[in-house]
Amino acid sequence: MIYLDNAATTRVAPEVFEAMSPFLQEEFGNPSSVYALAGRSAAAMDSARAIVADAIGAEADEIIFTGGGSEADNLAIKGTMRKREGGHMITSAIEHHAVLHTCKYLQEEGYELTVVGVDESGMVDTDEVRDAIRDDTRLISIMHSNNEVGTIQPIAEIAATARERGIKMHTDAVQSLGKVPLDVDDLGVDLMAFSAHKIHGPKGVGVLYVRKGFRPEPIIHGGGQERRLRAGTENLPGIVGFGRAVGLAAQLGQESVDRMRALRDRLIAGVMDAIPETVLSGHPTQRLPNIASFLFRYIEGEGILLSLDMKDIAGSSGSACTSGSLDPSHVLLAMGYPHEIAHGSLRLSLSRYTTDEEIDAVLEALPSIIQRLRDMSPLYQRR
Ligand SMILES: *Cc1c(COP(=O)(O)O)cnc(C)c1O
Repeated sequence: MIYLDNAATTRVAPEVFEAMSPFLQEEFGNPSSVYALAGRSAAAMDSARAIVADAIGAEADEIIFTGGGSEADNLAIKGTMRKREGGHMITSAIEHHAVLHTCKYLQEEGYELTVVGVDESGMVDTDEVRDAIRDDTRLISIMHSNNEVGTIQPIAEIAATARERGIKMHTDAVQSLGKVPLDVDDLGVDLMAFSAHKIHGPKGVGVLYVRKGFRPEPIIHGGGQERRLRAGTENLPGIVGFGRAVGLAAQLGQESVDRMRALRDRLIAGVMDAIPETVLSGHPTQRLPNIASFLFRYIEGEGILLSLDMKDIAGSSGSACTSGSLDPSHVLLAMGYPHEIAHGSLRLSLSRYTTDEEIDAVLEALPSIIQRLRDMSPLYQRR
């Protein structure tokens, strides 16, 4: 199978599996207990925490392990807003639903929300964020990079604006980890969310970076784990796997990212060259190295996915979380694409395991798939 849906999830790296394996078997100690077995669990957790901290220029005690990226976003947003009653928050129209739906949920609880738009490349305008700030604004949450079109936002600039006004800044950097340099001080953020399964780690484990001196309200209550910010016996195998996945990405370094980017660029050039009336969505330069997102006029993304699947190629249309509904992606609509164009979206997202041969196979298969679907499309006949 040719797997090009790495923005949805990734395979666990063999090195990660190997690192996790003892913690699913003999090293099953509860890190909070006192005997030697538990001590080894605690040490493994400390080591994973240090690796993640190191990768983003943070201190180990600023790393809170969670049950995934969605939970990290929820903790950042609910945990900040619920420190006090009322107040205003700002987010963008192209956020992952883990952010957008959380903000809308808080709005129903009585908090106030401004959702800023984006331009046609999916870019948030810092001036628009600045204009949205009010005296009672307490949180700005803008994603570091978008999971559908790959656009990278000017987070350092927005965070500087937030800081000037004493507003907390959260960024969902789930898609950026391991692909774009991230340093909490260069970015100037207070909160930043990550997920292991987007970087060849296991599912169900995430991280929230929380800047020293700030304490969000916990959203899960119980034991005192994770500096009393996230109750529950730690997911030790998951945490160890996350640490190894981050370490591995650092070890493979820029070279591995550059190789992926070159393949992605070849994919984009090949598709744009072979298939007329195609739009490359997202920002032309400020974009993630692994995402290629296309809009093919006159046809439906669903049909493209099914045809690709028959050739054992996996991609996605819009966001995997929303497929199952026939609504086009909220991201593409926010970028100003009309419904009929947004419907024809295809996202191909690469990983470090993507090969030259796989890109060749996609470039071989896709043009005839698109042409066949267009030949069946009444919109294409009437164009
Ligand atoms: C996948 C993803 C999430 C959710 O992470 P989970 O670990 O699946 O909960 C949040 N934000 C972005 C941008 C994502 O791509």
